[in-house]
Amino acid sequence: MERIDTVVVGAGVAGLTTARLLQAFGQRVVVLEARDRVGGRVHTVRTAGRVTDLGASWIHGVTDSPVAAAAEAFGMRTVEFTVGSFQPDGRPIASYAPDGTRSNDAAAAAFAEDVRAVDRALLGVIAASGPGESYRDVTERAIAARGWDAERAQRVREFLEHRAEEQYGVWIEDLAAHGLDDDQVEGDEVVFPDGYDRLPAHLAEGLDIRLEHVVSRVHWHGAGVEVTVDGTTDRSTLSAAAAVVTVPVGVLHSEAFTIDPPLPPAVAAPLGRLRMNAFEKVFLRFPTRFWDDGVYAIRQQGAEGRRWHSWYDLTSLDGEPTLLTFAAGPTARETRTWSREEVATSVMAQLRRLFPGAPDPVDVQITGWQDDPFSRGSYAYMTVGSVTSDHDDLATPIGSVLHLAGEATWTDDPATVTAAMCSGHRAAERVFGGEIPIERLWSSPR
Ligand SMILES: Cc1cc2nc3c(=O)[nH]c(=O)nc-3n(C[C@H](O)[C@H](O)[C@H](O)COP(=O)(O)OP(=O)(O)OC[C@H]3O[C@@H](n4cnc5c(N)ncnc54)[C@H](O)[C@@H]3O)c2cc1C
Repeated sequence: MERIDTVVVGAGVAGLTTARLLQAFGQRVVVLEARDRVGGRVHTVRTAGRVTDLGASWIHGVTDSPVAAAAEAFGMRTVEFTVGSFQPDGRPIASYAPDGTRSNDAAAAAFAEDVRAVDRALLGVIAASGPGESYRDVTERAIAARGWDAERAQRVREFLEHRAEEQYGVWIEDLAAHGLDDDQVEGDEVVFPDGYDRLPAHLAEGLDIRLEHVVSRVHWHGAGVEVTVDGTTDRSTLSAAAAVVTVPVGVLHSEAFTIDPPLPPAVAAPLGRLRMNAFEKVFLRFPTRFWDDGVYAIRQQGAEGRRWHSWYDLTSLDGEPTLLTFAAGPTARETRTWSREEVATSVMAQLRRLFPGAPDPVDVQITGWQDDPFSRGSYAYMTVGSVTSDHDDLATPIGSVLHLAGEATWTDDPATVTAAMCSGHRAAERVFGGEIPIERLWSSPR
């Protein structure tokens, strides 16, 4: 049986970060990856000259971001696109009233101010909330305290429903009251016109990564770990002094992945309170632009926008008129079995309420993260009853030989590439038993 220092399960940003840092500090590391590629939920496809990020697109705030620092060091081009966090304003947004007419600037500004007023009140309401309360419970309390008429309150209520869906891919009643505590953006947001996958590609350079190695069992004990890989024709086992497991929460929950002995309560309990969401991207490419120049997004208010309400203009990325919308939360579950044509028809019916002459798209791409056996959703959310520390607690070292890492294990900014990178860095330091500067990911020692 092969014996190494550390085995890393998963070649997403978390796993690659751990492996790269430990290898830089002299360890023998092997990364086992189920897919035939690295990057995990950072996945770019390139077809007919189009570069499409099917997973992560944004750095949600470049200020003090290690992902931004790594991207710059790796020479990755970025484009500013500060609407990735469902902001009510801050950048030009074309807003449409419930009847499909364009809101004037004053009406759009008044609505954004209403959202901000509720957000300010929410801080105190969430801080005072009880353990079994949902994001719906706290937002309703914050809205009620305004004393608005029903119509005004409903506009903000539906915005907050959409926020829970777009930010966490979950219906507002299923998200914990604290489920959006991390929702702050420091600095501009940016996207990658040449593809986000350049980041994991750079991180992977020089590592021993074994693709198409599906891990089915991690056995841990006082002297180390044995990791079992199920191949198409055989089974093999890798032995190591330590393991860092970075598979998504959905895989940890599944019967296809066994940790033996089972996770101790300090880790199993927070894991039980986190769940994978339902969040898919829908890219529509058009022969001509039919919306305003210079707007970052198009938003529709009202009941008609229950499924499709926000479209993001990606034209600046590759020059082709392109809108991105999301099937998020209930809509992602509802449309899960729909054909591409059915989804496109449904989205276009909505868009044509706002733009009656809109042409058919020339190309439609829809993601399928819910049905991906190696992600089982897009990222984890806090179910009602969970607390923010559940994220960090999920990374509690197990018998000092087994460590969990990945986006769901980072309290400060979960569900992001930043969380994946920071959690991978923390796991490397714990395995190494000392400080490792995160800059070692992108710079050599002097
Ligand atoms: C549609 C979508 C949009 C997103 N948008 C953004 C965004 O704009 N900005 C942002 O910051 N984040 C975004 N995210 C989240 C971000 O992509 C993730 O938080 C991050 O990439 C997770 O990295 P990770 O290393 O924790 O997990 P992963 O990238 O999932 O890596 C885990 C790896 O483990 C592998 N694996 C799974 N099971 C096994 C097994 N049994 N054996 C071996 N290997 C296995 C997987 O194949 C995968 O490669 C988005 C995600 C999605 C899906």
